[in-house]
Amino acid sequence: MKLFWTVFFLWMNCQLLAQDTTVSKKNIRLMKNAKKYLEKVALHPEQRMLSIGWMPGIVMELKYATSSNFTGQKLYPCINTTYLRRDAVMALWEVQKKLSERGLAVKIFDAYRPYSVSVRIWNLVNDERYAANPSKGSNHNRGIAVDLTIIDSKTMKELDMGTGFDSFSDSAHHNFKALPDSVLENRQLLRNMMEQAGFKALETEWWHYALPDAEKYDLLDLGFEQLKKNQPKPIICPIRWKSSVPASSDQPAQKQ
Ligand SMILES: [Zn+2]
Repeated sequence: MKLFWTVFFLWMNCQLLAQDTTVSKKNIRLMKNAKKYLEKVALHPEQRMLSIGWMPGIVMELKYATSSNFTGQKLYPCINTTYLRRDAVMALWEVQKKLSERGLAVKIFDAYRPYSVSVRIWNLVNDERYAANPSKGSNHNRGIAVDLTIIDSKTMKELDMGTGFDSFSDSAHHNFKALPDSVLENRQLLRNMMEQAGFKALETEWWHYALPDAEKYDLLDLGFEQLKKNQPKPIICPIRWKSSVPASSDQPAQKQ
């Protein structure tokens, strides 16, 4: 009997530890625990989640932090910046710098999305054409996907891309060519910039780009507050990489 209880308590311990760290759900690995996340990024610094709001000229219009999105619901807390893995931040910074030389800038609609928010969207929509199936997870959950467009830095107007963000129509596909030349050129400009920086396009959404090798990155279910609290000070990667980057803050150049 004593042996039974010893085994039972050991088993319970393992269960509790498993809940507290990385949770396996069928085929996916889900990181929910900030302490474990920090342990992992200590070993893999390129996987640290960094704010993108410090980039000069970048504009945030985080659709899921308002009810102005296709679900009609506010899915994020009030945030004025968002996050990506360090490699994605560096690639996006390349894009922003190149655009700024042309009087243009990046406008972000969405980047990191906690896994639990993806589940919520799935429960609202339940359609793989419009939402990532939680059994697979999303590259937004991995912190390597970004939804964005290009704006004119002076007028702050978006370049005409033919459809709005999250329009989920054939006309949002990259191979949809029945559009004015100027729209096709704008889409191609965004695609060229993103691909040159190392992102890959999604053929059905002109606004969505992600880094390759998604399996390298755990799906995350960390809240925005947790990420904000665990930002390096000063921001390590871009600072080392380019001394011209301002040393402080995860504040965006412009609030949404
Ligand atoms: Zn997306």
